[in-house]
Amino acid sequence: MNPSKRSSHISQPLSRSVAVIGGGPAGLMAAEVLIQAGVQVDLFEAKPSVGRKLLVAGKGGLNLTHSEPREFFLSRYGTRRPQIEPMLDSFGPDALREWARSLGVDTFIGSSGRVFPIGLKTAPLLHAWIKRLRTGGVTFHMRHRWTGWDAAGRLCFSTPQGERSLTPDAVILALGGGSWPGLGSDGSWVPLLAARSVDIAPLKPANCGFDVGWTEHFRTRFAGQPVKPVVLSFTNTKGNAFRQQGEFIVTETGFEGSLIYAASALLREEIAATGIAIIHLDLTPNFALALLTEKLSHPRGSRSVSSHLQRQTGIKGVKAGLLREVLPAEIFANPARLAAAIKALPLMLTAPRPLEEAISTAGGVRFEALDERLMLRTLPGVFCAGEMLDWEAPTGGYLLTACFATGRATGKGVLDWLAGQK
Ligand SMILES: Cc1cc2nc3c(=O)[nH]c(=O)nc-3n(C[C@H](O)[C@H](O)[C@H](O)COP(=O)(O)OP(=O)(O)OC[C@H]3O[C@@H](n4cnc5c(N)ncnc54)[C@H](O)[C@@H]3O)c2cc1C
Repeated sequence: MNPSKRSSHISQPLSRSVAVIGGGPAGLMAAEVLIQAGVQVDLFEAKPSVGRKLLVAGKGGLNLTHSEPREFFLSRYGTRRPQIEPMLDSFGPDALREWARSLGVDTFIGSSGRVFPIGLKTAPLLHAWIKRLRTGGVTFHMRHRWTGWDAAGRLCFSTPQGERSLTPDAVILALGGGSWPGLGSDGSWVPLLAARSVDIAPLKPANCGFDVGWTEHFRTRFAGQPVKPVVLSFTNTKGNAFRQQGEFIVTETGFEGSLIYAASALLREEIAATGIAIIHLDLTPNFALALLTEKLSHPRGSRSVSSHLQRQTGIKGVKAGLLREVLPAEIFANPARLAAAIKALPLMLTAPRPLEEAISTAGGVRFEALDERLMLRTLPGVFCAGEMLDWEAPTGGYLLTACFATGRATGKGVLDWLAGQK
């Protein structure tokens, strides 16, 4: 979606002009706060259009936020809750839904408590938002890739018309993380800020799949198939436990999907610390171990092991394939051992999938490098928002909610800082 077809000429710096770099949810939200306060905003975006990741996020239904109670919601930000909480207090799930309504897009709460726009689509929301921003006075500069600062401290951009530079009164960087780089956020800002002594936690995959290393036999038969319902249990070497029911998809190299994403931060850190992570799957969450053992103990008669398993427990297809993949053949002749394995099937994870494939990014600009307005301590007048900050959260609308909230916080932070500069 290209908000500005006209050529983007960067004029001489005006007083009280702010450059917002990055046209994702965080940057657009920052721009909105600023124009509402009457500040001139130039928004620079490397891609030909803004909101590309937001549009892709909406492909399976845009999960804007979550309706669960505040305490649960805040707990999703883990160790970064203290930093994110004040911004969510200022612009949290309810405010976000109200904001969507102000753009003519009502939301609804799905059965899981997740919040979606009615119609599930992103495009109407993004269209209405860009229109409102443009009408409000935001000047969009597409195909403007920020490349750093020159020796005189000017912001530099690479554009189809050549190199350009400018000196605004303040800058908001909302450059995203490093996942799905084809959509624009590729983490190329990391060396630019590191060279300016900004403390940055290494970017890592979050909400990502993992490698298991299937046999050729299993991979060719089951890659692409969903496994559901299943309970995933994991306890790391520090004693932190995860247990949740859900589903995942078998991939060529391992698995991915909502249940895996929910555990991905713990699993990623365990692999980083020890080289592997061993999870346990309960393939029959609806049967207690005793009942399962009793069922499997029924005489098999002339039936094959597979049809006995299916008849007694309903396990077939990919779940049966997982058992065959992991268990030695002799266990299938022992009902008690087989039942125990079905309730806690061990799987060894060897690596997270690369950052480029992940839904989101962990790591980024450390909050310690920022003041309470999200302004860089080493670069006065430069603010950071969105996924490029060092926080992570599971899927469920928590990512977008925090991107919107931090975008808003930087807009307000800039206003506060500009007021102090007068
Ligand atoms: C497949 C997928 C599904 C998702 N689904 C959901 C979901 O349902 N719910 C949810 O909450 N979250 C979801 N997310 C995550 C969510 O989309 C992101 O967290 C969010 O878009 C991040 O917003 P942002 O503004 O920080 O960064 P981005 O949206 O990544 O925007 C950053 C922008 O900066 C631009 N940029 C980068 N570098 C430069 C540069 N040097 N110069 C100029 N411009 C630059 C990029 O082109 C990009 O447009 C999903 C993500 C993916 C990949």
